[in-house]
Amino acid sequence: MSEFQRSRPALRLVQGTASEAVEWAWFCGHCAAPAPTDEAPAPTARVCRSCGLGLLLETRRDILPTDRDAFLVIDHAMLVQAVSRRAQTLLAVAEEKAINRPVAELVVPADAEAQSGTGFAAAIASAASGSEEPASAIVRPWNTFGVRMRARIAPCGPPRAALVVLQAPRERRLRAVD
Ligand SMILES: [Zn+2]
Repeated sequence: MSEFQRSRPALRLVQGTASEAVEWAWFCGHCAAPAPTDEAPAPTARVCRSCGLGLLLETRRDILPTDRDAFLVIDHAMLVQAVSRRAQTLLAVAEEKAINRPVAELVVPADAEAQSGTGFAAAIASAASGSEEPASAIVRPWNTFGVRMRARIAPCGPPRAALVVLQAPRERRLRAVD
């Protein structure tokens, strides 16, 4: 059992959310393909069978991304560890160029003057360091003004990191139906 999984029950107890059990599921950090089963994959079987590139990660089922989602995986040092294909298009950056770069070089808070500017970073830091509660922030690509995206932030791992799922305004309208 990994460090990530071992720490979960304790966190639930502290937060007093045991009554509303959070469901978890596995997905590929590269292509978002779901794991074959809900069982934790063996440490030697963490490489995604669909793309052969990504590592299977666990996250809250209510934020689980699909292959149509733009998402990033950010570690506790605020460095990018994975970028989905859709996010590479949205942010105009290739994954290999994005890996190990600070997230602030790709995505920044949309209204630096309206928010403190720390909301997005704080939510990532919180998720990457153990908080199970999902958070959201309004962000924009670092090089584009006038584009506002909703970022949903939740823990994923192992190793423990923050999953950031971006929703472009157009997608938000479509999804408002469901
Ligand atoms: Zn994959």
